Amino acid sequence: MTSDGCMLCPRKCGTDRTNYMGACNAPILPYVAKAALHMWEEPFISGERGSGAIFFCGCNLKCVFCQNHDISNGIVGKQYDADEVAKLMLTLESRGAHNINLVSPAPFVPVIAKAIVRARNDGLAVPIVYNTNAYETVETLKRLEGLVDIYLPDLKYVDSRISNKYSGASDYFDYASKAIDEMYRQCGLLALDDAGMARKGIVIRHLVLPGSVDETRRVLDYIAAHFTKEINISLMSQYVPFYNACKYPPLDRPLLKREYKRAVEYGFSLGLENLLIQEMSAATAEYTPVFDGNCD
Ligand code: SF4
Repeated sequence: MTSDGCMLCPRKCGTDRTNYMGACNAPILPYVAKAALHMWEEPFISGERGSGAIFFCGCNLKCVFCQNHDISNGIVGKQYDADEVAKLMLTLESRGAHNINLVSPAPFVPVIAKAIVRARNDGLAVPIVYNTNAYETVETLKRLEGLVDIYLPDLKYVDSRISNKYSGASDYFDYASKAIDEMYRQCGLLALDDAGMARKGIVIRHLVLPGSVDETRRVLDYIAAHFTKEINISLMSQYVPFYNACKYPPLDRPLLKREYKRAVEYGFSLGLENLLIQEMSAATAEYTPVFDGNCD
């Protein structure tokens, strides 16, 4: 925060978060809605023992289909300072987590940076995963250089009308594309260890939305033209019409198998070499965690 208030993310809303919530619905210290071993990330993130996920409340996007709307728009759990977040990281590692997976971390970068330093000083050895919607500024991401090992950004949209309609951010691509460049600069291509687990690098995620295969094509076109074809992309089929999706047809229905198939075929037609695809069976509410504040 500056004396002008919080300018951490592209909203630059200038809120005094010591006293008020910002446009991200987040005070300065994060509420943690859940900390647990999470089995439903990509195989090189979850592995056999699970990813040590820490779910933060609040979000700087306003996705009408948000699957975590209980915690993106509401408060669950209790507030944690940097030392307490560091302890959570060490507890998750002691339970066997392959990595520490920070979910929706953008509004808390100063706290998270301190927590990572503290946890490393206290012996944390597993990689740090920064799991983000990519609506971030380069200036804020630079504070994480050398602290984050694996970036897991979404690239949700290219078209500003669609990003405005579905996520309330007409400038999403302008910021997300620059943010992903910075993440790539910091960590490079995905590197796996001998067991096939992610050690360092970037994986770009894209959720295919109902009725939006053309937008998926634009996203894949951008990635294929802008990065090496070796970049890892996780093309997700797990869309479920949550939250206010019923008011935004065709988001009010599941993704069709034929829509996902067209998206996958298009990705391969571009020569993308590391395109991870998902079973359609992943599109169920069962894979959404229950947010109860439990961090035991
Ligand atoms: S992180 Fe939150 S408070 Fe800070 S600028 Fe972004 S929306 Fe505003």
